Amino acid sequence: MFKINLGSFEDVKEYSYELKKSDVTFEGLDFEDGLSINLTLTKDDVDSLVAIGDISGALNLTCGRCLEAYQQPVESHFVTIFKEKQSMTPDDEENDVLSYDRNNLDIFECLRETLLLELPLKPLCRETCLGICPVCGKNQNTDKCNCDKIIKKEETFRPFSGLDL
Ligand SMILES: [Zn+2]
Ligand SMILES: [Zn+2]
Repeated sequence: MFKINLGSFEDVKEYSYELKKSDVTFEGLDFEDGLSINLTLTKDDVDSLVAIGDISGALNLTCGRCLEAYQQPVESHFVTIFKEKQSMTPDDEENDVLSYDRNNLDIFECLRETLLLELPLKPLCRETCLGICPVCGKNQNTDKCNCDKIIKKEETFRPFSGLDL
């Protein structure tokens, strides 16, 4: 669905998409319905085009501490250069230039890479998430337990801890 036919393309054209989960799968990414994408494709040279665009919406993530699902808003800007396949050089590939066939330009990869950059290294539902109790497994944000108090009690009651036995 992201193939742009360049047959009728002249110098500049705008495209917009409103994505639902059922429309497309970006591997390793889960987004909320209504992800909106606006981009302008501009001719840059005989064999290259530039796509400048924005993605906005929300990603569905799982908190690394409490393991609950949460949503993270996305406001992402991208600038991607596309070059005709035959004109691609190893340098281009290194510089994240994407390729297109003579008449077809596929922006899927460009969108996927932009979204992947939005993924946090350590997803957290909130900065202050209390996580899961390692003893009883309860979510400490919603279901605070008393295990830490019990552990502390045991720690303080160690009559021989000061002795070198
Ligand atoms: Zn959390
Ligand atoms: Zn507990």
